[in-house]
Amino acid sequence: MRSYWVYVDDPTSKARVHLASCRYCNNGQGVKDSRLPDNRWLGPFSNPDGAASVAVRENKRDTKPCGVCLPGYQIEAEVLQFIIP
Ligand SMILES: [Zn+2]
Repeated sequence: MRSYWVYVDDPTSKARVHLASCRYCNNGQGVKDSRLPDNRWLGPFSNPDGAASVAVRENKRDTKPCGVCLPGYQIEAEVLQFIIP
């Protein structure tokens, strides 16, 4: 079964939804060499919408699905509307 993770980066105000198998996600471990103290992984989630709503609740300026592992996935408008500009 597929699982999903949310990457959150506080300094750059960024959140990304990834598939666990994505090379940038690596099952919530991330890319070892680029790991910083101010980022974190939330998950795993069993579906992308659950992951997306958690990503949105982090309230980052830049919240998107990963362009590598989820290029066709759209975060639903009902979920996105909770982002405070
Ligand atoms: Zn990814």
